[in-house]
Amino acid sequence: MVETEIVEAPVDVKNHMSIVGTKISILGAARSGIAVARLLKEKGASVFVSDSGLPEKLQRSISDLQSVEIEVEIGKHSERVYDADLIVISPGVSSTAPVVQEAMRRGIKVLSELEIASWFCPSAIIAITGSNGKTTTTTLTGRMLFDAKRKHVVAGNIGTAFSSVISELDSTTISVLEVSSYQLDYIESFHPTVSVILNITPDHLDRYGGSFERYIASKCRVYENQSHDDFLIYNYDDPVTRKQIQRLEKSRVHAIPFSVREQFEEGAFLLNEKLVTVLEGKQSEVVEAEQISIKGIHNLYNSMASILAVQIVGVSVPSMRSTLKNFKGVEHRLEFVREIEGIKYVNDSKATNVDSVWYALQAFREPIVLLLGGRDKGNNYSKLDELVHQRVRGIVAIGESAEVVKRAFSSRTNVVQATSMEEAVNTAKSLAHPGDVVLLSPACASFDWFENYEHRGRVFKEIVTLLS
Ligand code: ADP
Repeated sequence: MVETEIVEAPVDVKNHMSIVGTKISILGAARSGIAVARLLKEKGASVFVSDSGLPEKLQRSISDLQSVEIEVEIGKHSERVYDADLIVISPGVSSTAPVVQEAMRRGIKVLSELEIASWFCPSAIIAITGSNGKTTTTTLTGRMLFDAKRKHVVAGNIGTAFSSVISELDSTTISVLEVSSYQLDYIESFHPTVSVILNITPDHLDRYGGSFERYIASKCRVYENQSHDDFLIYNYDDPVTRKQIQRLEKSRVHAIPFSVREQFEEGAFLLNEKLVTVLEGKQSEVVEAEQISIKGIHNLYNSMASILAVQIVGVSVPSMRSTLKNFKGVEHRLEFVREIEGIKYVNDSKATNVDSVWYALQAFREPIVLLLGGRDKGNNYSKLDELVHQRVRGIVAIGESAEVVKRAFSSRTNVVQATSMEEAVNTAKSLAHPGDVVLLSPACASFDWFENYEHRGRVFKEIVTLLS
């Protein structure tokens, strides 16, 4: 592979190969695979897309790629994949997949869609990562820029591939990116101006050979290419994150903490119940914590991360304040559905791990009837014991793991098993008293009863809407 300068890419890509005429194989023909294939083709590469999935499911992808004359194979990864100078992997393709392993064995460079898109980004990136809260914080940050009338895009792991918005960017656009550890696993020069680490808790360890250390290292790659001119916003209260950042030399990157417990010379924190930032020696009282419309400590953290990120890029305090008062959150994340007979119904279907449920439980002062269970990833529920004891009136155990949930909690609270979502909602209704919250926050994946967590949340909402 010849290392030369790319002429048409608008950014400093001198360390990358010339794109024109380079042979690039792309693994995965879903949203990001298609977007990166189109981008690379437009930049002059010779592109080949390969997806081992079922042809019936990928008809649209095939026609989409063929309409722009990109070659594609479906149902297998043939030898042709390896006839490439570079392989780009979509986030859905695991690093343990044989095709990725084989590419690396043959010495072919493997990079992520995020890395490739970033080569062509001419302006500032705010990259947001963490185990929980990424979508909320990314959406909130985008909303802050929108309200402040700043040119921006919101992309990444949030449903819009970064590659698909590259053509919209100019030198003033801020790209707010939700970044997963899978995408970070295959970066090389990805370089955000502002990176955010919300928290690091064990999740998705199956993709890291069960190693928490490897997962931590992967998340921390978000700041790997940052320098002292860049900003790294991090959760000081999260011990794993704090430990990683405290190891860094001071001159390495401008690290800015946020906390609900401590106060800093620089950072975001609580002062007299107000959310405050101090940046460049200037203190700003942003908003009273009570006035933030998204509830719970976790959303205080998400709000702190967002306001630091947008204040760094110049958004004013009154504008941030107004966004925090008005932002209603993201669907399926502590989403208020309806109040009937004094009982509030809340959809937190996105809570697919124990940690998220912990935060959901502490977000309410009212007694809770909790819908818990689904496809269990080997959960340890003991972290919930105290909160369940203090706040939960009863649990409705759902999904494949209903028995496990029952065993874990029946000594602490009333646990009733349900065999469908409809039965679960009705059971919850009968257990709840006026003034209570019925909360779907399952701590588990949804694939036992549903297609995905969105489907689970929609079914829950439909049933709740029909309650009389
Ligand atoms: P992600 O995109 O990282 O999965 P989301 O914003 O979609 O994060 O939220 C996922 C779940 O985690 C929701 O149930 C939400 O209530 C919970 N959550 C959101 N922010 C945080 C946070 N900062 N810490 C812990 N849990 C959180």
